[in-house]
Formats: sequence, structure tokens, C-alpha cells
Amino acid sequence: MSESILVVGGGFSGLTAAVEAAEMGYNVFIIEKESYMGGRVAQLNKYFPKLCPPSCGLEINYKRIKTSPKITFYNLAEVESVSGGPGDFNVKVKVNPRYTTPQCNNCAPGAEAVTTETPNEFNFGMNMRKPLYMPNMMAFPNQCVLDPAAVSSGDGQRIKDTMPEGHVDLDQKAEIIDLNVGAIIMATGWNPYDATKMDNLCFGKYENIVTNMMVERMASPSGPTEGKIVRPSDKEEPKTVGFVQCAGSRDENHLKYCSYICCMATLKQACYLREQSEDVEIYIFYIDIRSPGLKYERFYKNVKEDKKVHFIKGKVAEVKEGSSPGSVVLIAEDTIGGGKIEQEVDLAVLATGMQPTGATTQIPGIEYNSDGFVVSKEGIIPCGCAKRPIDVVSSAQSATAAALKAVQTLVRRAG
Ligand code: SF4
Repeated sequence: MSESILVVGGGFSGLTAAVEAAEMGYNVFIIEKESYMGGRVAQLNKYFPKLCPPSCGLEINYKRIKTSPKITFYNLAEVESVSGGPGDFNVKVKVNPRYTTPQCNNCAPGAEAVTTETPNEFNFGMNMRKPLYMPNMMAFPNQCVLDPAAVSSGDGQRIKDTMPEGHVDLDQKAEIIDLNVGAIIMATGWNPYDATKMDNLCFGKYENIVTNMMVERMASPSGPTEGKIVRPSDKEEPKTVGFVQCAGSRDENHLKYCSYICCMATLKQACYLREQSEDVEIYIFYIDIRSPGLKYERFYKNVKEDKKVHFIKGKVAEVKEGSSPGSVVLIAEDTIGGGKIEQEVDLAVLATGMQPTGATTQIPGIEYNSDGFVVSKEGIIPCGCAKRPIDVVSSAQSATAAALKAVQTLVRRAG
């Protein structure tokens, strides 16, 4: 019987679950596939309910995992397989090289040494990054990463030569580690639904159609536009913005379920836009606005009182090019006012839904349902968005419950 718990995923849920289990006295391993912790929350500008930046909430968890003798964490790591059963799982983990050492937390000299650039994944490709880079401004661990592609080209050596001695290590290799744990908490999170799959919404066809997560990155002071929400085509602030709700969600051809938080994300982003400009006109096309709970309902009520925010009950069925340069026209049936509505906007935002990572990447030995959510079993406990679409606060609650269930598995098995 193992006394250890594995947490797969180092986002808000995974960190919360790990800290809770460690504080109950158990040894915890965290496996995170990215080079940094924090998951999707790290990409947000602000999050509900207090609309605070991701640093509040994440930094305290970073500090707790860094200082806890009970927690061991691995980044750039993936679970390859799970076997065994409750109390005695064997887990094979691949840890990929970072090609840097912990002293490497200022990549500026190395970044200058080469001209090669790659679209910055953290900012959804809205800017470029160098092969040696810090994943994001508040990255934890605070350590640069060297792209594997640079290692196999001459760039890696050029970068190494300009960096201080011992910062870059081109000889690092992928490692396989075997863990024996008593319970597994699956906190593998979500991906934004791929907007290119909705042909009718023309993402990728017209430049000034973006997703809600792209807006979060633009609105963030550390984002590609340093906090300004702009049109990609000319970097101008939009005077009119249209939000397309349920972009992919509640649709038999895409995500069958409601993604829970995208209505609130739109209302929040309407506030970002109104703080940015007194004149911007906002059009929200929706099926119905879902604002669960008293706080969210109040937030919705406040946004509705803004005369510059127009709510149109109708699902956008089609998008076409507008009459002014770069603009697009959103076309929907107005189910309250009646008739077809065609609204031209400078910028369209698709409120894309949450797709669990299990819809695209599955771990052998873990069971998933047809949508990709993890199925709960004794000793394998999903939490956060690995379990269902959920907001950050509910994710934290779900992670705390998962930690308790994991401990109960160990106690039951030990008894
Ligand atoms: Fe649609 Fe709103 Fe549900 Fe998101 S939260 S799927 S936008 S109803």
C-alpha cells in the first residue's frame, strides 16, 4: 500500500488538491505537462468572483508547494500509463528536458543571440517568442525554457555560448520515472474549443474575429498588447464589438453541453471594453444568459444597466465581411424582436467553450466519458474541469473534495 497521492495537472485545481492533501500529512507528486504551473488561470486577466488578477490565488499556492516538504513536482511531464488499483497504482511518467538549469531566469542574452522566432503559445500566437524564453511573467518555476527545436539546430549552441556558464544544458535527456501511489487526482483541466471547427463563424478567415481567451490575453497588462483590446488587423481599439455566445457549446455537432462560465466571461470582457473606452458599443448575441448564483446574477444585472451593452437573443448563424475595412457582420434570428438581424462590428469575439483535455489526449488506464471528462472510480478522482465545466471557485472546492476522497482511499486501504 502506498501512502502517496498523485495529482495530474498543475493548474488551479491540481495545486489546490496537492496543497490540501499535503496539509493532511500525505506525500504528493504533481505532474504538469507545461513548463509552468497555473494552467488556464495563469492566462486570464482577471477571474471571478472578485475579479482579481491570477497572481492572487496562484502565488500563494506556488509558495505553499515550493515550501512543502511533502510535495514533489515535475513540469514538462506527462503520464504515460497507469496500472494497478486503489492503494497501489503504478504510474509511468515521462519528464521532458527543459535544457536550462535553475539559475537560468533571465534569458535576455540568449534571446538576443538568435533571430529565430515562434508564435507564442501562451498568447495564442498573437505575438512571437524566441527559442529561449520565460513562459510567462509570473512563471513558476521561475526558470527559462529552451525549445527542443533549437537544440537540434545550431541555435541551441549559439544561445548557450552567450548565456552565463551553467545556465543552458544541451545534454539533458527525457527521463522515465516510475511512481507508486495510493490514489490519483485527475486535474487535467481544459482547452478552449477549437474555433476553426465552426465553419459558419469564420474564425481564421477574417482577421478581426478572435476568441474569448485571446481577449483575456490582450486585456492582461503582461499580454501581447499590454492590456489594450485591439483589432488584430490594424491594432486599433474597436468602436463596436460583437460577442457570439455558445460558440461550439450546446451544439450536437461540437460540445453537447453548456460550458458554464462563457456567459460570465463575456460580461466580464464587456466591462474590460467599457473601462477601455466610454464610446464602445457592445452587442451580445446569446441563446440565454447563464449567470448561476447570486453574485453572478448581480454582475449580469449591473452590465444590463449599461446603455452601451446591447443584448440580442439569437444564435449567430453566419458571419460575412463588413462594408468598412476589417469589419465583419454577425447574422442571427432575433428571437425577441423578430426577423433577421445583421450587425456590423469592428471586432467579433467568439465565446468558445471548454473542452476537457481528455477529449484530445487520454492516459492509458484512465476511463473517460464520450465528451472526454474523466470517469470517477475508487482511487481515481477527477476534479475541476477534468470532471465538468466549472468556474475557478468551484474548481477549488472540487479539488478540496478530491483531496479528501484521495485520503479516504488511502485510509480505507490501510485499514
Ligand atoms: Fe452558452 Fe453561456 Fe452556457 Fe457558455 S455559459 S455555453 S455562452 S449558455
